[in-house]
Amino acid sequence: MPQLTCYGGVGEIGGNKFLLEAGDVRIFLDMGQTFGFLSGYFVDPWLMPRKRFGLRDLMVLGLMPRIPGLYDRSELKGTGMKWTPPTFDGVFISHPHYDHIFHLAYVDRDIPIYLGETGHIIIRAWEDSSSRIDLGQHDYRTFRTGDVVKVDETEVEPIHVDHSVPGAYGFLIHTPEGTVVYTGDLRWHGPHGEMTDDFMRAALDTHPIALITEGTRMEPGGGRVNYSEEEVLQGATKIMKGARERLVVSTFYPRDIDRMRTFYMAALEAGREFITSSRTAFLLKALEADTGLHFPRVFSEYGAKAYFREMASASTWERELQSELGARAVDSSYVHDHQSEVVLQLDFSHLAELVDIDPKQGGHFIHSKSEPFQEDDIEDTILRNWLRSFGLEHHQLHASGHASRAELEQMVKELKPGKVIPIHTEHPEMFLGLSKEVELPAVGRPISL
Ligand SMILES: [Zn+2]
Repeated sequence: MPQLTCYGGVGEIGGNKFLLEAGDVRIFLDMGQTFGFLSGYFVDPWLMPRKRFGLRDLMVLGLMPRIPGLYDRSELKGTGMKWTPPTFDGVFISHPHYDHIFHLAYVDRDIPIYLGETGHIIIRAWEDSSSRIDLGQHDYRTFRTGDVVKVDETEVEPIHVDHSVPGAYGFLIHTPEGTVVYTGDLRWHGPHGEMTDDFMRAALDTHPIALITEGTRMEPGGGRVNYSEEEVLQGATKIMKGARERLVVSTFYPRDIDRMRTFYMAALEAGREFITSSRTAFLLKALEADTGLHFPRVFSEYGAKAYFREMASASTWERELQSELGARAVDSSYVHDHQSEVVLQLDFSHLAELVDIDPKQGGHFIHSKSEPFQEDDIEDTILRNWLRSFGLEHHQLHASGHASRAELEQMVKELKPGKVIPIHTEHPEMFLGLSKEVELPAVGRPISL
C-alpha cells in the first residue's frame, strides 16, 4: 500500500513537502518553505540562521525535520546527523514558487530534481538576478506535458495546470496499487483554465486511490474579494485611462507572467507604455528561449522598456541587460518626465524609487497581490505611508492563483478518490464530509493510501 508522509503544507498555506513511498520507490512531491518560516526565531536581516553551519540552527530549533538520506553533506555539519548516501529516487516540483522549491537548497545534489522546462528557466533566472537566491547545483531533469517519468514500477505523469506562474503542473502518480493524484496549486478562473481541465480529465480516467489536494481558498465565510484575470485587465485599464496626466504604478508577484501580460495589455489599451522592473525584464528575456510558452516577446519584438535603479554598483546581470536594451533602459528622470504616458511596475522593496521619480500628487498605485492576511500587516502599513507621502491613490485588484472553495468541493466530488488528504490550507477540516474518506494530515505521521 502506498504511503504518504507530510513534512510541510499541514494546516498551512505553502511549505509543501510530501514523501510518497510505493514499494521501494521513495519520491518527494515538492520541497517548499512555509511563508513566515523563520519568523518565530529570526528577524531579517539582524538575526538569521548561520549559513556557515548549514542546517544546524534550523534542526536544533525543530524547524527542519531530521530525514536520513535527504540532505547534502555540506548541510549536516554540526547537526549531529551523519551524512548517508541518498535514499530517495527524486524530488518532483509542481511549480517554481518559493513555498514549493525553497528547501531544494538543502537537498543532496545527487538526488534528481524533476520539474517542467519553464520552471527550470524561471529558477535559473531567479538565481541569476538575485544574490539572495541559491538553490544549489542540482541534477535537474525537465519534463513537459505528455512525458512520463518512470521510477521502477511507478510512473509519474506531469500534466499542466493553470496557476499564477507559468510552467505549473499537477501529477498523476501511477503506482502498482493505483493512481495518486497531487494537484500542486491550481485554478480554473485564470487565463488558461483549460489546462486545469486537461489535468482533471486525465485524473478522472484513473479512478484515483487518493487525492492530495491544495485548499488555499477553503475558508469559512465568503473569503477575500477575488477577480478573474479579465476583470483585473478591465479594472486596471479603467484606472489607467482615468489617470490623465498622473503616474500609474503597479505591483504584482514578480513571476506572475499572466499578470505582467495583463498590465502590459491594459497599458496598451489606455495608450500608455508599460515599464517593467529590470528583474522582470531579465526573466521575460530568459523565457523567450522557452519555445513552449506562448507569450509576446515584449523585449525582442515590441520594444518594451525596463526601469533601472541608480546604483552605486549594479550587478553584472543588470549592467549587461541595461546595455543590451540601450535607450529602452529607462531611469527615474524618464518616468518623472513622462508621468502621463507610462505605467511603472514597482516592487515593494523598491518603493524608495518614488523619491527619485517625484510623481505629481494624485497618481495611482495598483496593488495586484493578495490582500494582507492580518489587519496589522506591517508591509501594508508601510506601503500606505509611502503612498500617502506621494499622494498616490491605493487600488486593490487581484485574481487569485487558487481555485475557489466551490471549485475545490466540486473537484473532490467528481474525482471520487479512495482517500482525500487536504494540504496547503489553513482549514483542512473543511474537507471533511466531501468524500467518503478524508484524512487530515499531521506532520511526520505516515498515511496509508
Ligand atoms: Zn503554493
